[in-house]
Amino acid sequence: MTRSKRKWVAKNGEFELGALLGGCLPNLHCIPFSSPTGGELEYSLINQITDMPHRTELYQDVPSTCWPIVYSPGYNITFMGLEKLHPFDAGKWGKVINFLKEEKLIADDMIVAAREATEEDLLVVHTRRYLNRLKWSFVVATITEIPPVLFLPNFLVQRKVLKPLRTQTGGTIMAGKLAVDRGWAINVGGGFHHCSSDKGGGFCAYADITLSIKFLFERVEGVSRATIIDLDAHQGNGHERDFMYDNRVYIMDVYNRYIYPGDGFAKRAIKRKIELDWGTEDKEYLQKVEMHVAGALNELRPDVVIYNAGTDILDGDPLGGLAISPQGIVKRDEIVFRAARTHRVPILMVTSGGYQKRTARIIADSILNLHSLGLIDKNLATGEAKSSEVELMLRTTPLLEATQLPV
Ligand SMILES: [Zn+2]
Repeated sequence: MTRSKRKWVAKNGEFELGALLGGCLPNLHCIPFSSPTGGELEYSLINQITDMPHRTELYQDVPSTCWPIVYSPGYNITFMGLEKLHPFDAGKWGKVINFLKEEKLIADDMIVAAREATEEDLLVVHTRRYLNRLKWSFVVATITEIPPVLFLPNFLVQRKVLKPLRTQTGGTIMAGKLAVDRGWAINVGGGFHHCSSDKGGGFCAYADITLSIKFLFERVEGVSRATIIDLDAHQGNGHERDFMYDNRVYIMDVYNRYIYPGDGFAKRAIKRKIELDWGTEDKEYLQKVEMHVAGALNELRPDVVIYNAGTDILDGDPLGGLAISPQGIVKRDEIVFRAARTHRVPILMVTSGGYQKRTARIIADSILNLHSLGLIDKNLATGEAKSSEVELMLRTTPLLEATQLPV
């Protein structure tokens, strides 16, 4: 986005339409605002003519009393036991929050409530053709890998399956802005890294990582480079396809080379590719993660890191095929947050894959560990987080010591 466009983006993400029409684009006065086709068409016409971001509810200011932890009970998929037909815990997100509340880290009024991404939000990345395809239940059944969805009327599919995923997607977009504002943010859901603008798959119906980055590029001054660190057990072919030819985005991906999706074309977008063998264990994994995260951030200093923290690397995961211990996952997240802090880069974490019964506890333990180490900072999160304070926090916290790897 050029600087001249940025000035139209008000602080809360809304636009001053009057100012826009008055000064910047004199030719627009010919657009008939009282046209019988309604206001939406005119607004979309303006968007097309000006390349202006649309109105969104996802970039509203968040009360300073909230932590930059984004969640909604609407994340969890529950529908007559249907969710049990997929080999995952479709309620893991709520369980993470419950553990964090039990440990007194957060309370309900300290959590940022995720909002559902609207169609217009989704169109920032997705094609209308793709969104229309989701109106077919068999398409959603294929993407979510829940075959019985095929037999449901689409209004139920929309409400019970896609709406939770759209809410998680809205959460990732919101958390992107929060990360830049506060220095860090965690969306307790999201991380749908197999979905690209025109294709879903692997339980990923919306490209939340791509959306979050594109929202930041379009709407937040000073954010023009992003690094994706994708440590889910699977290759993140969705964002890779979306950013294939976009030099503003640096992608590092560590995954089991033998499992889904094996997307050779998408691999071309990976700047730092670490392919793992079956059964890779903690020591080798953590050494590689630490070395390559540092290498990635040294190679290109981004304005934001998007960390796809999938937990399907856990030993025993039926899909991931790796053998990382719970302690290894906690350590991995610590390595990534520490590296982001050392390089003074805001970080957004999404939880992505990993749906064993013990997964939610491990994610909660990891967040608690980050907090106990000062890598996610309570005072900053709950105080008036001005960008200068974020900069100060990122600059002054003494986190440069070498990380101890387990043996
Ligand atoms: Zn995965």
